[in-house]
Amino acid sequence: MTVSARGRIRLWAGLVFATACSSGRTSAPSTTPVPAEGSAATEAPAAPTSAGGIPAAYRLEAPEWWAHAIAQGTRTTTGAPGPNYWQQYASYKLEAELNPVLKRLTGRGRVVYYNRSPDSLPVVYVQAYQNLFREEAKRNQQTPKLGGIDFDRVMAEGKILSSVAKPTEPGYTVTGTIMELRLPKALAPHDSLVMEFDWQFRVPSETAPREGQDGEVWFIAYWYPQLAVYDDVNGWQIDQYLGRGEFYMGYADYDVKLTVPTGWLLDATGTLENATQVFTPQTLARLDSARTGTTIVHVVTEKDKADSVATTKGADGKLTWHWTARNVRDFVWGTSPRYLWDAARAVTDSAKGKITSSSLVSAFYRPEAVRSYWDEAARYGRHSVEFFSKKLWPYPYPHMTAVDGPEGCGGMEYPMLTCIGGTYDSLSLYEVVTHEIGHMWFPMMVGSDEKRYGWQDEGFTQYDQSQAMADFFKGFDDEARNRDYYLRGAQAGYEEEMMKPADRYGNDQSYGIAAYWKPATVLVALREALGRETFEKAFREYGRRWLGKHPTPWDFWNTFDNVTGQDLSWFWKEWFFETWKLDLALDTVQIEGDSAAIVMENRGKAIMPVPLAITREGGGVERVMVPVSVWFGGEKRYTLKVAAKPAITKVEIDPEHGYPDSNRGDEIWSRGRAASSVTPTSKR
Ligand SMILES: [Zn+2]
Repeated sequence: MTVSARGRIRLWAGLVFATACSSGRTSAPSTTPVPAEGSAATEAPAAPTSAGGIPAAYRLEAPEWWAHAIAQGTRTTTGAPGPNYWQQYASYKLEAELNPVLKRLTGRGRVVYYNRSPDSLPVVYVQAYQNLFREEAKRNQQTPKLGGIDFDRVMAEGKILSSVAKPTEPGYTVTGTIMELRLPKALAPHDSLVMEFDWQFRVPSETAPREGQDGEVWFIAYWYPQLAVYDDVNGWQIDQYLGRGEFYMGYADYDVKLTVPTGWLLDATGTLENATQVFTPQTLARLDSARTGTTIVHVVTEKDKADSVATTKGADGKLTWHWTARNVRDFVWGTSPRYLWDAARAVTDSAKGKITSSSLVSAFYRPEAVRSYWDEAARYGRHSVEFFSKKLWPYPYPHMTAVDGPEGCGGMEYPMLTCIGGTYDSLSLYEVVTHEIGHMWFPMMVGSDEKRYGWQDEGFTQYDQSQAMADFFKGFDDEARNRDYYLRGAQAGYEEEMMKPADRYGNDQSYGIAAYWKPATVLVALREALGRETFEKAFREYGRRWLGKHPTPWDFWNTFDNVTGQDLSWFWKEWFFETWKLDLALDTVQIEGDSAAIVMENRGKAIMPVPLAITREGGGVERVMVPVSVWFGGEKRYTLKVAAKPAITKVEIDPEHGYPDSNRGDEIWSRGRAASSVTPTSKR
């Protein structure tokens, strides 16, 4: 999901934006032993051996379930899935009809659940997300109050299950947004279970989060009984849907028939199986040219709508759209009588100048949405799909569609579809389109638990968004924006640790910092510390290892440690589990004979390697990375000795501004100041 530009303004309104300033502290004389002097210090000094490795305060402790997963062989200490890794699977055959007059959706379906776990399951759990809207529902967001979902029929293994059966008998119980099915007989390991459901609910208004209808456009999500995830670390993950915290979904196949009024356009997760039955020859021909050409094609225009020549007539004023999707986390759809449709081909992979794979990128929007630049959305989508395909790995799905949805959607991601509501300028529309498309990689392809570890989905996507924006708006510094939101929020007292379930944050600001801006920012800091190439290699390797699987934070951290060959636990501990501040400072530069002593301080609790740019007379710049281990012994000061000649004119810590330094302004020393000055010049 995106925190929209408007949401962000709302989020930060009322915060006092304190400006960073130089502390002006005087420092105690250095007692830190200075390492043996090298020649000209263009190489990083060796770590002091007295530090004795990573101190306890900076060490990562693995939870009990982690040790269990390692013992079971489902996960590994290298971060790769273990030899005994397993995950459940499901196959959904669903039918639904939307009645826009009654605003009701009626559905029925047959679900096959494959138990690939080594466990026997006497009960299974199904999500009933629409119960977020029940009058009495527990929630941490404002929502409309409706009836929730009504189950008219629930069956398992051919037997009707009753909601009034005794808890000791087969039957079902709905508690909040979770439905428990007590099976006639336990589902054995490696066996499958057939369930059937009939259900209905009133589609919520545009004040619902992430879905709904505004009388014109209908975005239908959380609309069918979806199996909860049963995995090797949690067993059943049945946390309630309260509004803020997002989702954890298993992979499944879908075969779905959707009936809506004739003349409406509809797009959904997957492949449309009956295109020749729902589209006119004109629409089919334009789609074809979009798939094979290089331009944005107006598949359905305003005139086509007026002339009713986009879709076929159907029967009884209705048309049924048949979709299939394989190995996806969810299935959603958007439909409206008012949609226009732009489409273009995105190249997702190529070899030797030849396109080896491509996907159809579309925008569905109302005519008046051009005021929010929706006529650019297909182009934005194409750039995003092509950019991430190159940067991460190729987009694998048959299409990607940006849907102009009800306001409550804000920006919300679903497999192959994003629902985007509200008003935008061109920068913020690109931002939301690229953010939601970024989510196709995390968490759609790399299926983490968003509810418990929001940063593994939102933080990674916020980071990726910044890369796409820098490419699209040449040089646009979205990373600086993220860092600014994080630091200002932290300064205003909203920071809570990142390792916390989304629904346990005190407020939306704290969740925003912990799930979006802080993780995106610390990834940049890690990239600065490791070097871009190493960072990107590890980031991609994490994705490759966990593609279509369920990684935990430990799998991410261990993969980084494994790929980089470094023990980065100090970094994971301080940024993910703590709310420590980073405050690196240059104290002074002193000439001592042939050497220049660069004295730096660590005034915060967080530690980082120190990237330095040393400028000398004549303009030459040396780059030095002081290893993080110089702080392992709890040192607050560290002196780096370099050659005094040619004369040093300027020294700067973190010259790329990749670190979230809470007190920027004490990172630069420049000649002209007294050599022993303890208040270096402030640049910004
Ligand atoms: Zn998001």
